[in-house]
Amino acid sequence: MFALGALILAAHCNASPTNNIAARPATANSTTNQTMKFPVTKTDTEWRQELTPEQYRVLRQADTERPFTGLYWNTKEPGVYRCAACKQVLFTSKDKFDSGCGWPSFSDLASAKTVILRDDSSFGMHRTEVICAHCGSHLGHLFDDGPKPTGLRYCINSASLAFEKTNPPQPGPGEKK
Ligand SMILES: [Zn+2]
Repeated sequence: MFALGALILAAHCNASPTNNIAARPATANSTTNQTMKFPVTKTDTEWRQELTPEQYRVLRQADTERPFTGLYWNTKEPGVYRCAACKQVLFTSKDKFDSGCGWPSFSDLASAKTVILRDDSSFGMHRTEVICAHCGSHLGHLFDDGPKPTGLRYCINSASLAFEKTNPPQPGPGEKK
């Protein structure tokens, strides 16, 4: 129920898409994706045991959390965002921006090849799904209305992320104040 409302809002946020897709990474062929192998593979039972019910619904069943309800939509502290399922670093706070959509939004990845993109035609919309390249978990969707220079908006569920705050640099062992 809530998922559909969230999707409609997601589409609304995408009201002024651009055609600039030059920076967008290549989309995986959706037919080959079904048999894709990931470095981290677990059984459905294992995922259910390791994840919270909400994380499981989003990461493993491609559900969408309601906007403005997740842990990180308004997080502005410096740090890294890991995949909640396999702990791979996906995004950093330097690329996080306030999209007004109610989900954590990033204009770029922490590093190339951390995610895989695939076509998603569910709910009568054509969108690009973002999944973790390490474990195949659902993260969110990619839109073309992000800020420059990438023009990309990775619209990611908080439930798919584990935030790790960056600590201020510690003085080295030989340094005394
Ligand atoms: Zn992952």
